[in-house]
Amino acid sequence: MPPQALYVHVPFCLHHCGYCDFTLVANRDHLIPQYLEMLGRELNHYCREFTHRRKITTLFIGGGTPTHLSPKDLQTIFELIGRHFELSDDGEFSIEANPDGLCDERLSVLEANGINRLSLGVQSFDDAVLKTLERKHSAAEATETIARASNFIPNVSVDLIFGVPGQGLESWQQTLEHLTQLPVKHISTYGLTYEQGTPFYRQEKSGVLKRMPDDLERDMYLAAMSHLESRGFEHYEVSNFGLPGYQCRHNNVYWNADEYYAFGPGAARYIDGIRSTNARSVVKWLNSWNKGEPCEEDREQLTTEEKAREAIMLSLRRMAGLHVASFEARFQLSLQDLAEEEIRQHVEDGLLEYSGECLRLTQNGLLIADSVVSDFL
Ligand code: SF4
Repeated sequence: MPPQALYVHVPFCLHHCGYCDFTLVANRDHLIPQYLEMLGRELNHYCREFTHRRKITTLFIGGGTPTHLSPKDLQTIFELIGRHFELSDDGEFSIEANPDGLCDERLSVLEANGINRLSLGVQSFDDAVLKTLERKHSAAEATETIARASNFIPNVSVDLIFGVPGQGLESWQQTLEHLTQLPVKHISTYGLTYEQGTPFYRQEKSGVLKRMPDDLERDMYLAAMSHLESRGFEHYEVSNFGLPGYQCRHNNVYWNADEYYAFGPGAARYIDGIRSTNARSVVKWLNSWNKGEPCEEDREQLTTEEKAREAIMLSLRRMAGLHVASFEARFQLSLQDLAEEEIRQHVEDGLLEYSGECLRLTQNGLLIADSVVSDFL
């Protein structure tokens, strides 16, 4: 069965926010025509053996800020994808967007091309927090955009960030309260990270930015869980909450350790048991495809054990956890044989527990989920 999911990376932004470690360029819009041409070449290359358009059930156009592209350029992306892939009638087709610049004309192009889920990078409804994060929109603009966008695409998801220097618990609670009064179906909450190489990393090291104390950041995460669950959002993955029926199907492909296509600079694909990642440098990716050459930086054929370990790690991020019998049937491996020591230790420490037929994170495990799950790799 070929992959049913497709990711396309659009690496353009209006501005490079100081905390952001994604593959992107800002103020380089003159590269957009070349990007579209090279994306076409990459699609032609990887899809050259298709005898017909492949049906996909989830599409995720991410970035960067895909909606930084003009309506005409967005239309071109859909045409490039449509040469090789067909969106299934009941599929989930998402695009990432920012409140700034998300005009009705762009929303109309998205709607007309089958986009039925919008993932909006709002981050906060506190203007002071938005300023610290170097975001270009205001809380009022984000509120207006959510209401307007939901008239075109009713399934709106919003990303929020907590743990921002200077952000208090009250500001975070107000953001949660405000958001849950808006027409949103899904919310992702991420703790701010200081990734090496970013301005925030350097500013934190030099003392310009003061990292939030761990206990306050933990309280913010707990506040999100309690507030969102009280408003009917189901906490289904470490960072993700959805109203019933609105889990992100595309991300569930990743957490299921299923395979997927991916295109664009920095994009990572998983096809035929091989994980490969394109160059993160946009210019390198463009130059490589300009010469007609694929631009993968990493390529790894996973062994069955590696696939199984990844599946454990990814499944444990979901609140439902890892269904042991399904896992063992899929990989023909015993979970105990594979990870007896890691499981024993984490169960003993109160970070993992068995619940029915599943192994899952406990509440304490959730608070340090990244460190618990990475032990299984
Ligand atoms: S808008 Fe989003 S993708 Fe672009 S720089 Fe800011 S955080 Fe990164």
